[in-house]
Amino acid sequence: MLIDSYDRVVDYLRVSVTERCNFRCQYCMPEKPFSWVPKENLLSFEELFLFMKIAIDEGVKKIRITGGEPLLRVDIDKFIKMIYDYKPTINLAMTTNAFLLKQTAQKLKDAGLKRINVSIDTLKPKVAEIIAGKDVLKDVLKGIDEALRVGLKVKVNMVPMKNMNFNEIVDVLEYCKERKMSIRFIEYMENRYASKEISGVKSDELLGVLREHYDFEDEGFDGSSPSHYFRMKDGYRFGLIEPYEDDFCKQCNRIRLTAEGNLIPCLYFDEALSISKAIKAGDIKAATEVLREVIRTKPEKNRWGGDDSEISSRAFYETGG
Ligand code: SAM
Repeated sequence: MLIDSYDRVVDYLRVSVTERCNFRCQYCMPEKPFSWVPKENLLSFEELFLFMKIAIDEGVKKIRITGGEPLLRVDIDKFIKMIYDYKPTINLAMTTNAFLLKQTAQKLKDAGLKRINVSIDTLKPKVAEIIAGKDVLKDVLKGIDEALRVGLKVKVNMVPMKNMNFNEIVDVLEYCKERKMSIRFIEYMENRYASKEISGVKSDELLGVLREHYDFEDEGFDGSSPSHYFRMKDGYRFGLIEPYEDDFCKQCNRIRLTAEGNLIPCLYFDEALSISKAIKAGDIKAATEVLREVIRTKPEKNRWGGDDSEISSRAFYETGG
């Protein structure tokens, strides 16, 4: 079992398989980065899988494949199958923008994927085009329909922003509710790469608007999820992710691996250790030591909202959010 210095059990690994993305979301990657990580520096699926086997053997029970956009990586379904075949009980999930999901959902399900998280920030085609930098909404919605049809469990993430999509939180919630998909509103997290024009919405304001439409009760946190949950009278539950609250970190059970092999103990901080050399040499002992060191040095909490100068220099498209 992997236990950090604050007695938190770390059993969740998020793996960003590529930093590349087919969207240019305002809050994440509004511009193409100056340079991509060279292909030869990326870990192959076999190399990523070698590390995952170590992590699973050390106690990881949940793996989420993310990016960039994970569906851009060729043969991603074969990679999912490698993990599933190694440990069919693993809780295997993916975070995707759903643009390519219509043609991939069945293959992913057949490979062993159980759940996906999809970003829907708007239901208006023109607003989607402004947020993502291209006309994406039709394909995203078709991708979600297909994921539901093949039996994947779908959760939706929405990042509400002022003067952009804040006026759509009820519409997006209703869209999810009708399809029995849960929704989590994620507070916009400031980072160096996002568009300077963005202004996020804090949870108080968001809950205030939702209260004008619904009755709901605060259910607090559920296990190690960063989501603060609320339940409506009819049983529908929605979540809020508030990184500006310290509570966010108390039950944190996750570490992140980037496509070039950096193992990151906290989404906020720059600190990371590379497993690349050890994994490329097939040195399981050395890679295990790096993993244990990352767990040992996992910080107690992030510093989002510490003061106005605290803006994370981590790119979400690199870490996978
Ligand atoms: N391409 C996939 C997608 O769109 O879901 C996976 C990668 S994306 C970086 C993962 C998640 O990070 C998305 O749900 C996205 O909304 C969230 N995200 C990215 N930048 C963010 C920011 N600045 N603040 C809050 N959430 C952010």
